[in-house]
Order: sequence, then C-alpha cells, then structure tokens
Amino acid sequence: MIELDLQQEIIHEAEQFAASEIRPYAQQIQEQQAIPESLIRAMAQKGYLAASVPTEYGGLGLGPRSYGQLTEVFGKALPAVRSLLTVHTSLVSETLVRFGTEEQKSSWLPKLVSGEWIGAFGLTEPEVGSDAKNVKTEWREEDDAYVLNGTKKWITFGHLADVFIIIASKYGRSTAFWVERKFDGVLTKPIEGVMVGGETGLAEIELHEVRVPKSHIIGRLNEGFEYIVTGALDQGRYSIAWAGLAIAQEALDSMVTYSRKRKQFDQKLHHFQLIRGMIGDAVTKVHAARALCLRAAELREARDPQAVMETTIAKYFTSKIAVEVANDALQVHGANGISNEYPVSRLYKEAKILEIIEGSSQMQQEMISHYGLKAYYKRGGGV
Ligand SMILES: Cc1cc2nc3c(=O)[nH]c(=O)nc-3n(C[C@H](O)[C@H](O)[C@H](O)COP(=O)(O)OP(=O)(O)OC[C@H]3O[C@@H](n4cnc5c(N)ncnc54)[C@H](O)[C@@H]3O)c2cc1C
Repeated sequence: MIELDLQQEIIHEAEQFAASEIRPYAQQIQEQQAIPESLIRAMAQKGYLAASVPTEYGGLGLGPRSYGQLTEVFGKALPAVRSLLTVHTSLVSETLVRFGTEEQKSSWLPKLVSGEWIGAFGLTEPEVGSDAKNVKTEWREEDDAYVLNGTKKWITFGHLADVFIIIASKYGRSTAFWVERKFDGVLTKPIEGVMVGGETGLAEIELHEVRVPKSHIIGRLNEGFEYIVTGALDQGRYSIAWAGLAIAQEALDSMVTYSRKRKQFDQKLHHFQLIRGMIGDAVTKVHAARALCLRAAELREARDPQAVMETTIAKYFTSKIAVEVANDALQVHGANGISNEYPVSRLYKEAKILEIIEGSSQMQQEMISHYGLKAYYKRGGGV
C-alpha cells in the first residue's frame, strides 16, 4: 500500500478526471449504450483500472479505504463506469493477485493493469443465480487441457472482455478457469432490452468444447467455490457497498440542490416540511451508509476476519438505502425526475441493480441473520 498522502492525491485527481472526462458525457454514454474505448484507455493510463493492485504488479497500490473512495468518485459520476472497477479490478484483477500463481500474475496482470485486456467474471447461468454452488457449466480432462461446455448469463462486460474467470463444475465441485476470448468455442451474445446496464456490455457467454490449458486454473481444482467465488464476491461486495453509497450521495446532492432552486406556491420546495422530511431521512441514511463503508474499510485494512461480514452488512445496507434515497430524490424532482435531463432517473434505475448483484439482498439477509443468530444469542439469558 502506498503512503496515505499519495493515496489522497490520487482520489483528488480522480475527482477532477471524473468532472472533466465522465460527467459531461454521462448522457451521451447512456444514449449510445457503450462506454467509449477512449475513456477506458484514459482510465487505464491513469492507473484507475488497477487502483487496488499492488505497485509491485504495476497497480496504484491503493488501500481498501482509498479504493472505496475511488469507487465512490466514479460511482457518483456514472455507475456504468464504476462497474469497470467492480468487475475488471475487484472481481478479476484482485482475484488474480490473491489466488494466482506467480507465473500467472507475471504473465496476465500487466495486461489487465494496462487495459490491454478487460476482464469479466462468469458465474451466473440461465438456470443458476443465487444457488451459485450448483453451476451447470461442466469441465472434463482431456490430454493436456480441460474442456469446458456450458452457458453463462448476465455477465457484465461479457461482450467486451478479452478474458473471463469462468466457474465450471464436476461432481458438484466448482473450479475457476481463466478463459481467453480467442480460445476456440467461446461465443458472446449481447443481452438487449434491459431497463438499465446496457452500457456495460451485458452478455451471455456460450462455451462449446473450449480447450483450456492446464496452466489456466485459478486456485485449486474443485476448490473454486470455497476460495475463488467466495473471495471474488467478497471483493465485489466491498465495491458494491461503495457503489450504493455513491448513488445515495449523488441522489441526495441532486435532491437538496433541486429543492433549493425549484419554487411552488411562491416558495422554494425545501420550505415544505414533507420535502424536509425526505431530506432529513436521506442525510441520515447516507451518513449511516458511509459509516458502514468506512468500518468495512478499517477492518479490511487490519485484515480482520470480521471484515467479510461487515462488508456484507455494508453492501446490503447501502444498496437498500440507495434505492430509497434515489426514489425520494426522484419524487422531489416531480415530473422532471423522469427526464433524462436530470440524473435522478438514471440513479433510480441503477440503484435497483445493486440489490440483485454480488448476491441479492435476500441472500445478504440470510448471511447476516445467520451471523446474528450466533453472535447475539444469550445462552442462558432471560425471555
Ligand atoms: C446488471 C447485472 C449485472 C450482472 N453481472 C454479473 C456478472 O458480471 N457475473 C455474473 O456471474 N453474474 C452477474 N449478474 C447476475 C447476478 O449475480 C444474479 O442476477 C444474482 O446472483 C441473482 O440471481 P438470479 O438473477 O438468477 O435470481 P434468482 O437466484 O433466480 O432469484 C430470484 C429471486 O429469488 C430470491 N431468492 C433466491 N433464492 C432465495 C433464497 N434461498 N431465499 C430467499 N430468496 C431467494 C432472490 O433474492 C431474487 O429476489 C448480473 C446481474 C445483473 C442484473
């Protein structure tokens, strides 16, 4: 991890980058349903695509707290751009840093760091979502390779990515494979007609007799769920926790600004108590969400085992309040709220995604309640 002062300088520079290179084009990116390659290249040049990758592998070397703040900066400017960090950086690059062999890291990480390769993470399938332990994509061993067959769905940047971490199974045990787009039998199809997320190259990936060299396994054979999926989703959840905070904060900023400008009944909206009620609630939720994100960051920096649960709690809470705050922000904007001219309609739709990805809110509730039932049980306690 680099010096804290340096980390904060990077965040400050990223704010300026987001203000000049992303915000002015947010509407255009949404209309074109694609993040321009020039923007991806510019982000890579600044090192943002490898923000949390250690400097020894060419990354920026940000610690969890600063990386979270960076995620917030991009998430406020445009959630689709923040998705690049969540998928390419948190799910793929961090997984390689954590679980890859030195040989894999030295040959693949430089390409991810420079943006020559964009990475995607393929777990979900048409018939398997929350029950991720039971993926149907299969592998078999054949001479010097593993051969993969199956279909992945809802893969962010799937249509754009050069490399994929693909989770496949045999006898009910999962393994993580490093699959390159150029391998024979890899076909990606864009998913169209979505309410939101069209800019992120959502795709279905078909794998037909794809021969993967034996050197392309991440972690160990048959231990893909316990280590790679669990580890990657923890990293992804940390990113989504800050993504939820970003949407909620941006929605709060918009709500306050609009209420101080718009007049009805000869008064600015913020004079009405019912509007102030929404603002008061939104401020409280955003502050609570920030506290949870910072707590998760602190525990991750200390490598405390409790960090995983606190990250889950932060992800669950921030995605929930992002939906609530974006909903209220849209309400405060009245009819203007549904117009593309204001950012709140986009925030409203983007917030909803966060309750579904990296484990749905119901799955987070399951995990949190499981933890709570153990942690807060007073053995021998009263009624
Ligand atoms: C925009 C977007 C991007 C995505 N990107 C990726 C990606 O890059 N890579 C990838 O692998 N996947 C990705 N996904 C898929 C995502 O991870 C899944 O959608 C998610 O895991 C939920 O699975 P599902 O949609 O199949 O819902 P299902 O699992 O079918 O669940 C449907 C509903 O039932 C609830 N439910 C399911 N099981 C239980 C239970 N036991 N108890 C209570 N409620 C339950 C769920 O919470 C949900 O509300 C993406 C999805 C979206 C929308």
